[in-house]
Amino acid sequence: MNTPRIAVIGAGPGGLTLARVLQQHGIAVTVHERDAGPDAHDQGGTLDMQCHTGQVALDAAGLLDEFFARSRPEGQDGRMLDRDGTILADMVAAPDEREKPEIDRGVLRRMLLDSLEPGTIEWGRTLDAVTPTGDGRQVLTFRGGDEIAAELVVGADGAWSRVRPLLSTAVPQYSGVVFVELRISDVDASHPGIAALVGNGSMFAAADGQGLIAQRNGGGLVRVYAGFRDTEDWAEAAGVSFDDPAAVRRHLLGRFAGWGPAMLALIDECDDTFVNRPLHALPVPHTWKTTPTVTLIGDAAHLMSPFSGLGANTAMLDGAELAQAIATAPDLATAVARYEAVMLPRAAVNAAGAAEGLDSFFSPGGLQDAIEEMAAS
Ligand SMILES: Cc1cc2nc3c(=O)[nH]c(=O)nc-3n(C[C@H](O)[C@H](O)[C@H](O)COP(=O)(O)OP(=O)(O)OC[C@H]3O[C@@H](n4cnc5c(N)ncnc54)[C@H](O)[C@@H]3O)c2cc1C
Repeated sequence: MNTPRIAVIGAGPGGLTLARVLQQHGIAVTVHERDAGPDAHDQGGTLDMQCHTGQVALDAAGLLDEFFARSRPEGQDGRMLDRDGTILADMVAAPDEREKPEIDRGVLRRMLLDSLEPGTIEWGRTLDAVTPTGDGRQVLTFRGGDEIAAELVVGADGAWSRVRPLLSTAVPQYSGVVFVELRISDVDASHPGIAALVGNGSMFAAADGQGLIAQRNGGGLVRVYAGFRDTEDWAEAAGVSFDDPAAVRRHLLGRFAGWGPAMLALIDECDDTFVNRPLHALPVPHTWKTTPTVTLIGDAAHLMSPFSGLGANTAMLDGAELAQAIATAPDLATAVARYEAVMLPRAAVNAAGAAEGLDSFFSPGGLQDAIEEMAAS
């Protein structure tokens, strides 16, 4: 195969894994990322890298040992609580458990970035449009007017992909559930009650269609998601501005009135940084007609609710598998077809499970289902 010009849009877990595995096979690639640089913003919470997905991708990328060295195996602990903070189920991982160790997103991104050849990422490049030339290439237009041509464009550009419209008319739909993200810094020294409540890993509590989910991150940080069913414009409708942290805190305490003081401490004692995250998902199944010059990986292909626990894991698996297909197929068209033949059915199954998981957790009895699932796993 001649060396094709491969342009990846997006330096998330999917795009970076794709670039790394391509380079391991000696294939040139450029990643175009809209962020100004690697530390442009907080990368978000912790991720569990699962043995059948994320870890397979890390292995293909030659980074599995480094991942284990940087991960937090104790983050695999999980517990279910009722609204008063009583522990209903507690799962403590064995010290050598490797099924799904946790890693902070920022640490994972740094590890992937450091593994790439210098100059692989073009930062501050926001893709505005992709236009087929008619001669088997695509022209990418970036903000500011810069243009390049590529033989293969890979949309690794997440939920609101600019590449996706070339393949499909699907757009993410609001799930009906919103997460408000809270942070509790310096938890062990400054909030020992919360540290004890959350434990070493994740804590889930649900009642009456609302939930509090807390996860330990590295560096003494706990991230909490306060989840509830409401309209996408709930904050506006309730007259709550995210520029006014005291108002958001008051509103959340009102919503969770009736929960015990130990649980309300998560809202009461958190930092003054609240992030509104209405959850969206692509229709299931999301599919398209294979096109030799464009494909999608990760959230761009199969945005699903976080209740799968698989979004980043499968984004990375997609990236690794697409790279391996490109390295072994006789041409790009065959590579894309082989990759999509595996990825699309897998994504349909995972996304259906994610939608079911979200719906169940935010329904009466959802916590009991989650406890049974935890006991079975
Ligand atoms: C609350 C929450 C919790 C989650 N927890 C988990 C979990 O525990 N485990 C798990 O596996 N997954 C989890 N996920 C899902 C996970 O975050 C995503 O599935 C994953 O980040 C997708 O990776 P990606 O590489 O496809 O896209 P992204 O991580 O979204 O990366 C896309 C990249 O593309 C860039 N980009 C976007 N548009 C453009 C453009 N026009 N031009 C150039 N660059 C662009 C962005 O800046 C970004 O860097 C969670 C999601 C949420 C919301």
